[in-house]
This record gives sequence, structure tokens and C-alpha cells, in this order.
Amino acid sequence: MQGIDGLHPEKDGLKMKIARRAPILAVIILVLSAAVIIAWPRRHEATFYPIGVIPFRIVAYERTAFQFRDDLEAVTARMAELVAVFNRHDPTSELARMNDKARSVPFEVGTDMLRIFELSRKWHRETNGAFDPSVGPLIDLWKGAGANKRLPTADEIAVARHKAGLDLVTTMGNGKISFTREGANLDFGAIAKGYMTDEAALVLKQRGVKRGLVQAGGDTLAFGDGTFRIGIQDPTAKSGEGIVGTIEMSAGAISTSGSYERFIEIDGERYSHIVDPRTGSPVDNGVVSATVIARTSTDADAIATALMVLGLSDSIDLIKRLERVEAILILRGSDDYDVWASASLVPRLTLGPDWLGRVHLF
Ligand code: ADP
Ligand code: MG
Repeated sequence: MQGIDGLHPEKDGLKMKIARRAPILAVIILVLSAAVIIAWPRRHEATFYPIGVIPFRIVAYERTAFQFRDDLEAVTARMAELVAVFNRHDPTSELARMNDKARSVPFEVGTDMLRIFELSRKWHRETNGAFDPSVGPLIDLWKGAGANKRLPTADEIAVARHKAGLDLVTTMGNGKISFTREGANLDFGAIAKGYMTDEAALVLKQRGVKRGLVQAGGDTLAFGDGTFRIGIQDPTAKSGEGIVGTIEMSAGAISTSGSYERFIEIDGERYSHIVDPRTGSPVDNGVVSATVIARTSTDADAIATALMVLGLSDSIDLIKRLERVEAILILRGSDDYDVWASASLVPRLTLGPDWLGRVHLF
């Protein structure tokens, strides 16, 4: 039987004691839970913007709040270092200085520049020249055309093409790069973000993060145990919203390149920001986006851009030739879109209902 309230002096005394101490107890509980929140290892994530509007998102598992604060600081510092190397539009960057100086005298470059140049040369070779960081003069020509709303003439294209070509760039074997023709310059826009993603993950790993994810715009790298589910952006959706489907992956990289977000517009026509080095003009082969799954983000980024240039048939040949590389291409047909995907992706690929009936495997 329950006693009636007010008739138990002992109980009342206890209640009053608790009531008096309630604020102290509340403070203790608050401090303890705050301590647990701060000191308990868990999943953390943060987004920052080292280059313009491109969001860099990092996710780290099993980290305390203090550890993650320092992780973020270390990654941010490394990214700032790399932006100072690769940002072609900042005249003080190493790349801009090299583009300016290497015409006359061999320019001594740092380790990051040398590494990205060597990797670019490798992918230029592997993709039969589709990936080509020496397209700088052509990029500038087409950017200018977009700004002036006037298509370049055949002569202007020929002049810019004359300044493009990796054979115009030489490494001296002593960390120096030089251009053998006036006007030649390099643009690492198709690979630098992938490289930064790899480097961000490396910083996290070196700091002891066992499992995590780095996402820089269309470039993602996952590391550690377990599976990660990554969305594939819908190139037909407005303002980057919506996904075609998801891909389940263990550690590795996935990059998407597309002509749907960045393009130039002249007389109501859209032109891709990716140039075909063989013609000197923006690509126009029906491929609207290329997603590549590879071991590193640098590789995935470079290959994805190359697929945008190569078109469907040559892309399939390249992907089949490369080991441990898979791809998903979205093509614009006469009245609809088609998806072409590596057959090995089937167990890991989930497509939305709108896309399911349009898949072709290779
Ligand atoms: P995103 O900007 O979507 O990450 P990419 O990785 O494909 O796209 O990179 C596109 C950039 O690469 C362009 O803005 C340009 O600076 C550069 N670029 C354009 N065409 C080529 C090419 N054929 N090879 C290498 N780089 C290119
Ligand atoms: Mg790329």
C-alpha cells in the first residue's frame, strides 16, 4: 500500500534534502554529460571552403571532439598550402608563377607540383591524350569567348592549339619545369581537386583517424573498414539536387565530372568547360557525366575528365583496360538519357526508379 503524502515525516525530510540539492545535482549531471560529449569518441563532420564555393566535407569516425578540432585544423592548413600551389587564378600561386616564368627560364617547382605533373603525364599517356593539362591556352580562349559572348574563330582556335601539347613541357630531372614555346601553360583543374582529396585523407590517417571520408565537390575518398554509401549526382536535375542512385563501396575513391554544372553560354548554346585536346573545342559527344571508381581520388578525377572527352565507345575500352577502375556514364540520347555502367558494379549499384530501365552494362 502506498502511504498518503504529508503523513511521512522521514520521507518528507529526504524529499526536502533532494529538493535543496537539486540545482547542484543538475549542474553535476550537466558537467558529466558535457564531459562525455567532449571526451567520448564518435563520428564528427565538418565542411569548409578552401577554394571559392566548392565545399570540402570531412568525416572522421571514433574521434573525440578535441581530436576532431585538431584534425580539422590540420586538414585546413594542408588544403591552404595546396591552394597556394594549384590555384591558377591567383597570380601569386606557384602554378601561376610557373606559367608566367617557365617560358623563359626553367622554373623550380615544389614536391606537390612535381607529383601532380608526373601523375598528369601518366594519365595523359594512358588516355591517349584525352586528359591533357597543357590545354590551358584553349581553356583561356573559351573562357574569354564565354565572357565576350562571341565564338572563337577557327584561326583563334588554331593559334591556341599551337600553344597546347605536353610535348611543349619538359622536366629537367632536377625539379625544374620549362616550356619550349611562348604561350604554353598548364592547368591542373581536372586533377588538383582529386589530389587535394587524397592529401586531406592522408593528413587524417597520419593523425590516427582509422575510418573517414573526404568529399570535395564531385570527388570523394573513403578510407577504413566497413562500407560507405555514396550518391551519384543527377546531371539532369537543376542546381545539383537529386541523385541518379547510390553506390556502396569499401575504401576507395569515386569522382564525377560533368558538363551540367560548369559551362559557358553563347547565343543560347551551352559549351562544356572540358576541352577536347584533339579539336581544341569544348566536348560535345553526348556524355553528360562520367563517374569513376578508382583506388585514389587523383586517379578517379583525371580519368573522369578523360571519359568526358573520349565519348562512350573509347571510354568503355579504357575502363576495361584499366585494372580496378570502374565507371558509370550518363549519355544524352535523341529524346532521353541512358546509363552505361561497369558490369562489376551491379551488386553495389542502386539506381532510382527513373533510371533503372535505362541501364546498359559493359
Ligand atoms: P569539375 O570541375 O567538375 O571537377 P573536371 O575534373 O572534369 O571537372 O575538371 C575540369 C577542368 O579541367 C576544366 O575547368 C579545365 O580547367 C580543365 N580541363 C578542361 N579540359 C581538359 C582536358 N581535356 N584535360 C585536362 N584538363 C582539362
Ligand atoms: Mg577531373
